[in-house]
Amino acid sequence: MDHVYLDWAATAPIDPAAAAVMADAARIWANPSSVHAAGRAASAALDAARRAVARGFDVDPARVVFTGGGTEALGLALAQRGGPRFVSAVEHDAVCAQADGATIIPVNAGGVVDLSVMDALLTGVEQPRVAVMHANNETGVVQPVAEVARIVAAHGGTLLVDAVQSAGKLPLPDADFVAVSAHKLGGPPGVGALIVRDAVTAQVRGGGQERGQRAGTENLPGIAAFAAALAARTADAGWHDRVRILRDRLEAALPGAVVHGAGAPRLGTIACLGLSGVAAMTQLMTLDLAGFAVSAGAACSSGKVRTSHVLAAMGVAEPGEAIRVSLGWATTAAEVDAFAAAWRAMAARLGRA
Ligand code: PLP
Repeated sequence: MDHVYLDWAATAPIDPAAAAVMADAARIWANPSSVHAAGRAASAALDAARRAVARGFDVDPARVVFTGGGTEALGLALAQRGGPRFVSAVEHDAVCAQADGATIIPVNAGGVVDLSVMDALLTGVEQPRVAVMHANNETGVVQPVAEVARIVAAHGGTLLVDAVQSAGKLPLPDADFVAVSAHKLGGPPGVGALIVRDAVTAQVRGGGQERGQRAGTENLPGIAAFAAALAARTADAGWHDRVRILRDRLEAALPGAVVHGAGAPRLGTIACLGLSGVAAMTQLMTLDLAGFAVSAGAACSSGKVRTSHVLAAMGVAEPGEAIRVSLGWATTAAEVDAFAAAWRAMAARLGRA
């Protein structure tokens, strides 16, 4: 085995169906706003992709606003007007950095939002704007978003759900705004969507694309590839449960690992593994040398490992000692077993076995 990729939560390998669509992009290579025949064909392809994405997420096509990725989709939702903001303590940086001054909703030791504290925080607030993610990118912990939505609605607020990690794995939650990203489910990076309940005010302004909700010539090859990747995920409805079995097999093969979030509902694709007394960077480098691509949960774009605000919010004493192993639809039992052997060898060498 050459190199084993277990960093699917960072980005998934492009799906062959999506790659084929992109390779064939010349077929749709015109501006969908152009009036000539090629432009009309591009516009029809865009409509078809929108319908396919809507079908994959079981929403009305009119609710899909394509964006340049998950971060932009979140930014579009966060820019909408309303009252004070509330965000969970475990949101991705893409939310935290675009929601300055927000009140933090705490999570319990399992990483799940405290619904009664949230309810109390929202009491008496005019039009609260709340952001609670569906599944966490470091631990895979899944939030009770239906309950959250009920509480937010009872307070007359709006809810943004970051479903970037869960899309293509779990049914999309129902909320005022739901953000998704193509590259986590087999599409290309730089393409995403905000699923909106009502029309939104554009943040990226210019032309009237996306019904005036997001300006800029549409990334049609990327959008069509997004649709193809999502179709591949939904066509194989059992993939996430199959991967969960592999993830559980992996965790069971690592005596001595602390599995963060293990007691909570989780995605089947993520294992957040702590190794007491060993910095995440040391673990990453050791495993990289052994041929395994994994991440620290809280890596930033420079590749540096930061202390995880997610694990800190869960009360983990040593949040800098955890790595994230993430699996996908093409992960095999042999890869998981090889990783487990390498992890055990690392723990033994570092005197932690
Ligand atoms: N939200 C979560 C939970 C993520 O994991 C990511 C990507 O890592 C994002 C948002 C950002 O999405 P994108 O990379 O498409 O901008």
